[in-house]
Amino acid sequence: MNLPFSDHDHPETAFALAAVRAAARLTTRVRAEMPHAKITKTDLSPVTVADFAVQAYIARALAEAFPGDALVGEERAAALEADDGAAMRALVAEFVREEAPDATEARVCAWIERGAGAAEGRFWVLDPVDGTKGYLRGGQYAIAFALIEDGVVQLGVLGCPGLDAQCRPAENGPGALLVARRGGGAWCGPLADGPGEFVQLHASDCADARRARLLRSFEASHTNEGQIEAIAARLGLAAPPVLMDSQAKYAVLAAGGGELMLRLLSPKQPDYKERIWDQAAGSIVVEAAGGRVTDLCGHPFDFSAGRLLERNTGVFASNGPLHDAGLEAIAALGTGTSDPALRGGDVPVLPS
Ligand code: AMP
Ligand code: MG
Repeated sequence: MNLPFSDHDHPETAFALAAVRAAARLTTRVRAEMPHAKITKTDLSPVTVADFAVQAYIARALAEAFPGDALVGEERAAALEADDGAAMRALVAEFVREEAPDATEARVCAWIERGAGAAEGRFWVLDPVDGTKGYLRGGQYAIAFALIEDGVVQLGVLGCPGLDAQCRPAENGPGALLVARRGGGAWCGPLADGPGEFVQLHASDCADARRARLLRSFEASHTNEGQIEAIAARLGLAAPPVLMDSQAKYAVLAAGGGELMLRLLSPKQPDYKERIWDQAAGSIVVEAAGGRVTDLCGHPFDFSAGRLLERNTGVFASNGPLHDAGLEAIAALGTGTSDPALRGGDVPVLPS
């Protein structure tokens, strides 16, 4: 039975939902008003403007709502504060002013720098625009905001402007707002302000690997395509992988629109460690919907290691019933290698 969403009065939840809604207004506006800007050396790109604007806005809002809480955000203000950052600084301040009338160029820089907080004890973690390449391409992206306490994610909110109310990809939205608080289930409501209902999300109950839908990064350089093919073949997947940017993949998984999600190691960056802002909000949303999230060895994420998931390797998320089969297929990548460290060991994924 679907109980009504009853968390609107929870202070942290209400704050995070309002903050991500405002952030989505900013990212949408920036993308609409700067459609032709590209990433260049001087970089007046929409993605950079949106990244800075969202982090500035949310940092300001956090300082007001929970003045004692630290923020760990992806961005720093140095590029804006530099002499050649003047044009961008003005643009960012202009956009932030639409949500926070007291924004000045100096304040915006100071707010962004609040994101350099310590990743310890109780802190918030923010990816202002997750999936930057998707944002530029007109693909999926997400605003990802989470609260971590003593290494455990307690609350996660994802704003996904490129999804519809059922968390299906939809170019023109209207957008989905996902929220999960530990022990309280995963929920999806409208991204725009208004009266819309929140509905509870349930991951798919599919237990037949052949029918599973596998989600992976759009960017080939963020994963290992050959290994994904090998895993898909071993599981007997009938459908080709679905390519999607950002933690919108987690939203789709939580809503039952897919069964498996892999982040393998790029052969070019075999030592890559996940950033906590790329995983915190999405992982609690999937788990609260009944799914499972581990690294490629089956270990749970350890969010107590600083800004990176230093003690984990890659990501494997699933609907739940297919998790063990997926881990077995991942581990099988390590067999047949001449490297004894990778045979039956703790690091199953080879950069090939
Ligand atoms: P996705 O759209 O799922 O590929 O995830 C986007 C995120 O991938 C970005 O926010 C980056 O932090 C992260 N990223 C950047 N380079 C890599 C890499 N080589 N391997 C994995 N993730 C990466
Ligand atoms: Mg990101």
